[in-house]
This record gives sequence, structure tokens and C-alpha cells, in this order.
Amino acid sequence: MSDFDFDLFVIGAGSGGVRASRLAASYGAKVAVAEDLYLGGTCVNVGCVPKKLFAYAAHFAEDMEDAHGYGWNIGETSFTWSRLLENKNREITRLNGIYRNLLSSAGVTLIDGRARFVDSHTVAVGDKTFTAERVLVATGGWPYIPDFPGSEHVISSNEAFYLETLPKRVTVVGGGYIAIEFASIFQGVGCEVTQLYRGDLFLRGFDQSIREHMATTMKAKELDLRFNTDVLSVERREDGVLSLSLSDGSTLETDLVLYATGRRPNIAGLGLENTGVTVDDMGFIDVDQDYQTSDPAVLAIGDVTHTMQLTPVALAEGMALVRRLYKPDEYRPVDYDDIATAVFCIPNVAALGLTEEQARGKGYTLAVYESRFRPMRNTLAGRGEESLMKMIVDKQTDRVLGVHMVGPDAGEIVQGMAIALKAGATKAMFDATLGIHPTAAEEFVTMR
Ligand code: FAD
Ligand code: NDP
Repeated sequence: MSDFDFDLFVIGAGSGGVRASRLAASYGAKVAVAEDLYLGGTCVNVGCVPKKLFAYAAHFAEDMEDAHGYGWNIGETSFTWSRLLENKNREITRLNGIYRNLLSSAGVTLIDGRARFVDSHTVAVGDKTFTAERVLVATGGWPYIPDFPGSEHVISSNEAFYLETLPKRVTVVGGGYIAIEFASIFQGVGCEVTQLYRGDLFLRGFDQSIREHMATTMKAKELDLRFNTDVLSVERREDGVLSLSLSDGSTLETDLVLYATGRRPNIAGLGLENTGVTVDDMGFIDVDQDYQTSDPAVLAIGDVTHTMQLTPVALAEGMALVRRLYKPDEYRPVDYDDIATAVFCIPNVAALGLTEEQARGKGYTLAVYESRFRPMRNTLAGRGEESLMKMIVDKQTDRVLGVHMVGPDAGEIVQGMAIALKAGATKAMFDATLGIHPTAAEEFVTMR
């Protein structure tokens, strides 16, 4: 008999924590999970899920415009933010309930409240303490907003999911996933959107052609996209309007400022100082390839560590860790190569494998294939918007190193390509594959 209350105590019931808890319990471990705010974590409550629902809502604007060319007569349209919000909140509550049932039916003890380390094997939640042979930290991340005069007047994505009213003018600051997705969302539901990014071109880390194509596409939608522009200060006027002083010397009036300037590890008040766990200079928990922290009793996975901040990554890390601990026969380390990702802006951006710049930097001799075309759906719609598909191939081995796309459903299309790259597909194999006609995806097998 173990001297501990639990074999595994998980802090945080988000993507990684829920998966790890359920799997460990299914392997016979005695498991508890503590959750402070909401079951399902960021992804379910203030991340992937509500963001995708909002993105669907935003898409209808263009769908209704496009319908005319296909013979439809759509009268005057209007949008009711409160209805979207209520429906979204109901769906999230439904998912929270599903997560609660999944945990309890797996035999996991669910403890509501914020957990704090007392020592490496002891965790306090409220006035109760629990001991465990191992503690897994899966506390995720939290939005980071830089400090500047008036920063108290801006919001993060957390609040954007619960706005009581939809502002007329929105300013989004940042050039990464969240900024671009929310710029599209707010524009789609009818706001006048300005997006400010501090560098020359947003989507740093994505393929250069994709970044340029997306900037052109967003500007053509009359989104006020400004590069090399930062916010110096924000002032709230008496009438509620926000006045932004910008680095180019201009001022900007707006009704809402959303900062999407990255996320930091959620370790505030966690009591890591009572353990041997070390963190890096941004606060991410240091782990080795086995998710082992510098304290032998403590493990960490997901956004609280310096990993790719994506739900499938947190899930995979949770599963790999639990199998290593409780079912070593089934253990497989996470393969971090060729992880496909999508930005759910309008249109989607999707990326897989190396960008052209990364591949050249690694010394490959490349064949680069690019296809720019107007998707068939845009023809009768009278929409000029083009898609871009790009494939990066190693000339020596013919291996496909990267696949990138801007266009409708890019996320759906590139997911399939990810399997091909995992299987080591060559360009010749893509060429030998017959397309599904007529689709946009078939371009990837007809590029010459
Ligand atoms: P989380 O899901 O953040 O879970 C951590 C949990 O721990 C939270 O529930 C938190 O309340 C709890 N917690 C924290 N501290 C304590 C404590 N001391 N005690 C008890 N509980 C605690 N990823 C994608 O793959 N696709 C997307 O489309 C996507 N969209 C996103 C959109 C937005 C706006 C955001 C913010 C993120 C998005 N992500 C997306 C990223 C994804 O949500 C995260 O990578 C993922 O949720 C990380 O999982 P995690 O388990 O590490 O942490
Ligand atoms: P990102 O890291 O993607 O982007 C942050 C942006 O903010 C960058 O453009 C960065 O600029 C800019 N920035 C950082 N600090 C400052 C500052 N002090 N002043 C001005 N600009 C600044 O973070 P997000 O917040 O967009 O998202 C966090 C993570 O969540 C993502 O990286 C992603 O992993 C995940 N996510 C995934 C989604 C998906 O899969 N679809 C959707 C949403 C989030 P620079 O490039 O110059 O550093």
C-alpha cells in the first residue's frame, strides 16, 4: 500500500491534464485532478472551441455576400452578438459537463479550486491538503499584456469571449495566431478593425510567401492593417472612446483594444518555491524529454512548459508521459517533427513542415512549387480573392519537406498532407496520386 493519498495528482484540468488523468486512471493509478476555473481548460473555454464558433459566425458575412452570384436573393441582414454569445456559452457549459462526466466515469477524483504546492509531494487546495507519489503540473498559460501607460484599458482574448456588447471599432495589437484570428472574427461580425503589428510583416515563423499573401488578402478586405506600428499609450476619454498614441506619431480612436501579444506560463501562486522545480527566464517550467522537472516528484506538460502551444501537443505529451509511467509497453515518445497547424482567420492559413526559408537555412537544395488561383467558388460569387498553395521539396531525395496554404479550409486540407509527410512522402508520390476533382486540395497533387 502506498503512503500517499494518490499515485498521481494533476494540477489543471485543461487539454493535457484531463487526458493525462483519464489515461492514468484507466491504467489503474489512483488519480486526482484539481481545477481552478473551468473544466477543459483554455481550449474548451477561452481558446480553440469558442474561437472556432466565432470564426464560423464571422464567415457568414462573406457567405451571404457570395450567395447573390449563385442566384440567391438575401434581404437586409443583421447580426445579434448577444445571441451568438448565449449559444456559445451554452455549448461551452455542455462541454464542461461532458468533461466532468468523463473524469468521474474514469474514476478520477475531481477537486475544485486553485492548487498550491506545500512540498514536492503535498498539494493544498483551499484548506485541504493531499499527498501524491507524483504531481503533474498542467496549468497552461495566461495572456501576456506588456506594461505601458493605459494598459489597464485594454483586454486580452479571455475577455473578448465575453464582451457584453459588440464595439463599432476594434483595434487588435499583435501579429500572431490570436491577433489574426480575432481581427478576422471582429471584421466578419461587422466591426471596423485596425490591426497593429510591431514588425515589418506579421505571422513571424510562417513561410514568407504565405505571410505576404495573407497581408495582401486582409488589406483587400479593407481591414486597416498597419505594420511597424506599436502602441505607446492608451487614454480613455470621458465619452468612453479610447485614444491610442502610436509609435509613428499618429493617434487612433477606437472603442476596444485587444492585446494578443503572446501567453506566459500560468504559475502564479503555484508554490513552486516549495519544490525543487526550476523555471526559465520567462517562467516556463524546465523539463527534460520525459517531462520530468528538476524535482524528482514533479512532472510538467503542455503550455506551462516551453513547448508548441497547441492542444494536440498537450494531449500527446499527457499520453506519452502517462504511458511511460504506468504502461511502459505502450510508450512512444512524442514526435515533434512536422506538426501541422492552422490559423483560423478568413481565409485560413495552414502550415506543415519546413518553410522555404527554414529549408534553405538547413542547407537543402530545393524545388519550390507554388500555385495561386481563384477558388472555383469565388468565380460566380465575383470575389477576386486568390488561394496560395506551396510545396517545398528536397531536390536530392525528392522528399516533401513542407506544405503551406492560404485559402478556404486550409486547415482541413493540410491535415491530410500531414499524414503523407509523416509517411515520408516524395514529390513523385504526390504526382502519382490522382486528385479529387474539382477541389482546391487536388492542386497539391497536380503541381508541376
Ligand atoms: P490549459 O488548457 O490552459 O489548461 C490549464 C488548466 O489549468 C486551466 O483550466 C486552468 O484554469 C488550470 N489551472 C491553472 N493553474 C491552476 C492551479 N494552480 N490550480 C488548479 N488549476 C489551475 N490550440 C490549438 O491547437 N488550436 C486552436 O485553434 C487554438 N486556438 C486557441 C485560441 C486561443 C484564443 C487561445 C488562447 C489558445 C488557443 N490554442 C489553440 C492553444 C490551446 O488552447 C493550448 O495550447 C492548450 O489549451 C494547452 O493545454 P494545457 O493543458 O497545457 O493548458
Ligand atoms: P503568438 O506568439 O502567436 O503571437 C504574439 C504576437 O504578439 C507576435 O506577433 C509578437 O510579435 C507580438 N508581441 C509580443 N510581444 C509584444 C509586445 N510587447 N508588443 C507588441 N507586440 C508584441 O501569440 P498569441 O498570443 O497570438 O497566441 C499564443 C499561442 O497560442 C500561439 O503561439 C499558438 O501556439 C496558440 N494558439 C493557437 C491557435 C491555433 O492553433 N489556431 C490559435 C490561437 C492561439 P513578434 O512576432 O514580433 O514577436
